[in-house]
Amino acid sequence: MATIELAGLTKVHPGGVRALDGVGLSIADGEFFALLGPSGCGKTTLLRTVAGLEEPTAGTVRIGGEDVTALPPGRREVAMVFQDYALFPHMSVSENIAYPLRVRKVPGAERRARAAETAAALGLGGHLDRRPAQLSGGQQQRVALARAMACHPRAFLLDEPLSNLDARMRLSARTFLKRLQRELRVTTVFVTHDQAEALALADRVAVLEDGRVRQIGTPAEVFRRPANTFVASFIGSTPMNLLDGVVLPDGRVGVGGVPLPAGNPGAPPAPGEKVVYGVRPEYLTYVPGRTDPAAPEGGLPGEVTVVENLGSAQLVTLQGPAGAVQVVVPEDVPTPPGTAARAVPRPDRVLLYRDGELL
Ligand code: ATP
Repeated sequence: MATIELAGLTKVHPGGVRALDGVGLSIADGEFFALLGPSGCGKTTLLRTVAGLEEPTAGTVRIGGEDVTALPPGRREVAMVFQDYALFPHMSVSENIAYPLRVRKVPGAERRARAAETAAALGLGGHLDRRPAQLSGGQQQRVALARAMACHPRAFLLDEPLSNLDARMRLSARTFLKRLQRELRVTTVFVTHDQAEALALADRVAVLEDGRVRQIGTPAEVFRRPANTFVASFIGSTPMNLLDGVVLPDGRVGVGGVPLPAGNPGAPPAPGEKVVYGVRPEYLTYVPGRTDPAAPEGGLPGEVTVVENLGSAQLVTLQGPAGAVQVVVPEDVPTPPGTAARAVPRPDRVLLYRDGELL
């Protein structure tokens, strides 16, 4: 087990694509760490650079305090699991799990014993003689993990390990992976473009954009206080409302001409400053009827234009002077399209952004 420290990591691919641009992060021993970001942001390049499959243009990779930047993958003692699992189709489960041990010339009897022990720990004990094609997607995933575990690596590097599973299997595989990581306490870095998966699994998340780290934090931190509008719009199953506003002399913020509470900005903006008013749909209360602009609880007025069913709740779009605003409303509240309503923000959940950065 080991810490992983990255400093100034930059990777310029042939052709000039800057896949990583000065990435620095420090992953604690035993931590479950997610690299999250949209397609093309550099997640896979970063993971491959830690594994040693990709050589950085600049910067260093330290594992367990040791500078491994110049070491080949085999000498880094990390195990990488890819999204397609890369199992050998002609080998049995047992042979697949033992393969890296064979490469390391571990004697046959010990290899088989370690494969059997690891397979048993992952609930694969009854399938040792099967071929990958005779297993479900979830079982194949566990074989790939078992193969990685059998070498007792210092860290696991997982590249979208759940992406090939169907939605329901993904959820159970997610729970299994989290429990396994808790039990083994092996430092684990996993790549995903699915913000819900990152929030559900990780101890901490790094959100990447264009090869740069935009925020590092616990799932609660990146959800509650996104450091910039990029993270604010990327995290959350329903995106945060980001509305143009201007700071009023009384400290409130005018949005579409309606004064709204300003929350608790760390650096209070001056009257007249332009800001972006951020509030999640979950932190707006839906009130049917028209606004009384004089009433402090007035909220943002609008007309119900779209209602989306979320199961136990509904996502309602209100069209008003501030543009489109989305509100999460309990399932049993009537929200007829075409009627007037308002969205009242919860003051302690309002965030203000200036030039894209949290105030
Ligand atoms: P995805 O979620 O789509 O897999 P990603 O965040 O993992 O994306 P990377 O695969 O790391 O992104 O790619 C980052 C950038 O580097 C992209 O613009 C990609 O096109 C580019 N890139 C990746 N590999 C190479 C390569 N071998 N040569 C040139 N450009 C590359």
